[in-house]
Amino acid sequence: MPYYTKICKETCIACGVCGATAPKLFDYDEEGVAYGRRDNNSGTLVVPEPLEEDLLDAEEACPTQSVMVSFK
Ligand code: SF4
Repeated sequence: MPYYTKICKETCIACGVCGATAPKLFDYDEEGVAYGRRDNNSGTLVVPEPLEEDLLDAEEACPTQSVMVSFK
């Protein structure tokens, strides 16, 4: 079951947790707001299986539920 992810930039408070938890999936813009680094936050690229655990950890750790995860 492939996962997709993107950040809700409207609710992200730039705390830095998701990039620390899943550095291959998330990075920060010049204001410190997170975004999905693999597909420029479009949520269109499948998250590689080896990164799924990091993704779910980041989703759980985000204090504002801004790490969005979907699957098809
Ligand atoms: S963990 Fe959540 S609030 Fe913190 S930078 Fe990432 S998306 Fe933003």
